[in-house]
Amino acid sequence: MGILSSKLAAVKPSQTKAMTALAASLRADGKSIITLSQGEPDFATPPNICKAATDAIAAGHTKYTAVAGITPLREAVVEKFSRENGLTFSVDQVTVGCGAKQLLFNALVASLDEGDEVVFPTPCWVSYPEMIKLAGGTPVALETRVENGFILRPEALRAALGPRTKWLMLNSPSNPTGAVYSRDDLQALAAVLRDFPDVWVLADDIYEHLVYGDAAFATMAEVAPDLADRVLTVNGVSKSYAMTGWRVGYAAGPLELIKAMNTVQGQSTSHTCSIAQHAALEALTGDQSFLPEFRKAFQARRDLVVGLLNEVDGLSCRTPDGAFYVFVACDALLGRTAPSGKRIETDMDFAMYLMEEAGVAVVPGSGFLADGFIRISYASSEEELRQACSAIAAAVAALA
Ligand code: PLP
Repeated sequence: MGILSSKLAAVKPSQTKAMTALAASLRADGKSIITLSQGEPDFATPPNICKAATDAIAAGHTKYTAVAGITPLREAVVEKFSRENGLTFSVDQVTVGCGAKQLLFNALVASLDEGDEVVFPTPCWVSYPEMIKLAGGTPVALETRVENGFILRPEALRAALGPRTKWLMLNSPSNPTGAVYSRDDLQALAAVLRDFPDVWVLADDIYEHLVYGDAAFATMAEVAPDLADRVLTVNGVSKSYAMTGWRVGYAAGPLELIKAMNTVQGQSTSHTCSIAQHAALEALTGDQSFLPEFRKAFQARRDLVVGLLNEVDGLSCRTPDGAFYVFVACDALLGRTAPSGKRIETDMDFAMYLMEEAGVAVVPGSGFLADGFIRISYASSEEELRQACSAIAAAVAALA
């Protein structure tokens, strides 16, 4: 009998983290690599938020907190949901954890029994299927198509739901496609869910503030209030407030589920860092004026990258409405040969080729359950993005 659990044998490490780690180790060996594999804003955390953290230390907020998070932060989350999403929660219906990631995981651990199914559209964030498996559930991937803007169609949802389905996990704006579900898209899915009263919705809204052009953010509990007693809404400060390392996310939903999530958290991490909670309180209640500035910068970078990559023969991408990723089809290049003589058979081969030949780290689409694509994060400076796109173009031109 080995030391590792059989459950873990089916769980893959994150490809996003793997590509980023490989880029870091090549860089440590002296190779110049532009990292477009990381889902992280390049902006610094705004100074008022950093000051709130140092003030918290000076004030002695360095001890254990309540499992669900400090009350002022949970009150600020209640206020945020009311102000920005028209949602009403009591403070007890809010829990705070180590990033949206841990809250998603807590919710799955708190709700899944062996064999329970969780359906989610693909391409999806690398962690969904693996978290579901770790929590003892069965991931059910529903493929969406570029022709539909990578939006899950109601008929595909209906066909996938069954007696074992516990959750629909929805992420909008989406990592990796940048697709944004409109109110109509959500209404169409809600109409299906009304026929399946035992299916809950896990809304992962972590990219809420990063929506561009005419697209508008919407979330299921707001669009379909009659379903709100089976919706968990998850969000956090990582992406919007450039606070990925602080590890603060929050979730709000039915009390019974929130209490169970608190039990999971209370027996694992206890709570997220007390100092980071005070910083997140400032993020949610302090100056919000940099949010439109971040959004404007991301939109300009998106337009730059989409324009440059669509000029490359063999690559194509739609203009994403949100988040900070471009999901680029590279299937036209599969079967070609690199100058080294190696054939590019898969998106992984292509991503490795770009790392070696172009010095650009991207993530292969297969990590997001979508073969024949690569994901490029444009949360980098315009100068780096230009350099990376021209290196990618040169590497593609070198394929025979
Ligand atoms: N959900 C999605 C879709 C993400 O892409 C990420 C981060 O990459 C997260 C959740 C996790 O965010 P956090 O930093 O709050 O854990």
